[in-house]
Amino acid sequence: MTRSPEDPILLTPGPLTTAIETRRAMLRDWGSRDRAFIAMTAELRQRLLDVAHGGTSHVAIPLQGSGTFIVEAAIATLLRPADKLLVLVNGAYGERMVEIARRLGRSVEALRWPEDRPVDPAKLDRALAADPKITHIALVHCETTSGLLNPLEPVAEVVADHGRALILDAMSSFGVLPIDLSTTKVAAVLASSNKGLEGVPGLGFALVERATIVAAKGNSPSLSFDLHDQWRGFEGNGQWRFTPPVQVVAALVEALRLLEAEGGAPARLRRYQDNFDTLAEGMARLGFHLFLDPEEQAPIIATFHPLDDPHFAFDRFYTALAARGFLIYPGKLTKAESFRIGCIGALGRADFEALLVAVEEALGELRR
Ligand SMILES: *Cc1c(COP(=O)(O)O)cnc(C)c1O
Repeated sequence: MTRSPEDPILLTPGPLTTAIETRRAMLRDWGSRDRAFIAMTAELRQRLLDVAHGGTSHVAIPLQGSGTFIVEAAIATLLRPADKLLVLVNGAYGERMVEIARRLGRSVEALRWPEDRPVDPAKLDRALAADPKITHIALVHCETTSGLLNPLEPVAEVVADHGRALILDAMSSFGVLPIDLSTTKVAAVLASSNKGLEGVPGLGFALVERATIVAAKGNSPSLSFDLHDQWRGFEGNGQWRFTPPVQVVAALVEALRLLEAEGGAPARLRRYQDNFDTLAEGMARLGFHLFLDPEEQAPIIATFHPLDDPHFAFDRFYTALAARGFLIYPGKLTKAESFRIGCIGALGRADFEALLVAVEEALGELRR
């Protein structure tokens, strides 16, 4: 992995640490209607489908903006005004989907679990049996709030058994954890450029079942957040409807080539698991405890309790690590105090070993 040493290490996904090749891919201008850029867009859409084995069943629809923009566009486009969304919530990103649906004026309900508990498919089964008005179910694959992994396959099975449609927020898991659209029934998978794919921020994308997007014409109350119209644009002339983030596209295509060269999602998962294990072991040695049980933990982001030490304060800890070139995240839990360290990005074991040295030094500084 080539990184130039003067770059800070971002453990804040995302944005996250990217490969120098990915950043270099942005060092030119593209005309958005030029042949070269149209070809790049086509390569992007194909590679995104390939990551999730969706080439025969789904279409890839990139959209300008951050990850939340694609979630909002998907809910706006896939739900008809009379439809009803059930969101499975055990963290901030699930809550955000409830809020999006509410703002769009769509009928929405939530099933909730504590932030350290995965979604329970049996409870979903009962909820769907009890309410035939629910047309769509939204699941967050990896709840980046905590790093918790939700059970995709069992949930998808329950949703399919009831003949409803599943919308999957796979923002932090896409390109890392297994998502196989040829065997798992998902109406739409949503993700963005700047997480497990290791691109730079600036676009989200949806992989939508072809029949679903065809049927979604006219649903969206928004012009910009209309994935049907966005898709029609790509299908029509290969171009983006509105100004595309050309450098972000170039970076993401390069990042997707690097993902393939690494060995695809399985290889990336192995690297992230090694990052996580290195981090978790080293932090345990220094007295830190993980928030989640190992069975619920995805190797994407680690949430730690604050150190049980009167000298420990997150702000000072953050500043001491930042001075050593490592940027970490504050916690996002609603109840417990916590902080988070991402395990994703163009980083390997040596980076986490260096982080652990910095953590030990930072703790020494705090205790002085
Ligand atoms: C990052 C993320 C999002 C989108 O966040 P943005 O800040 O809008 O990019 C949505 N859901 C999950 C699970 C995420 O990890």
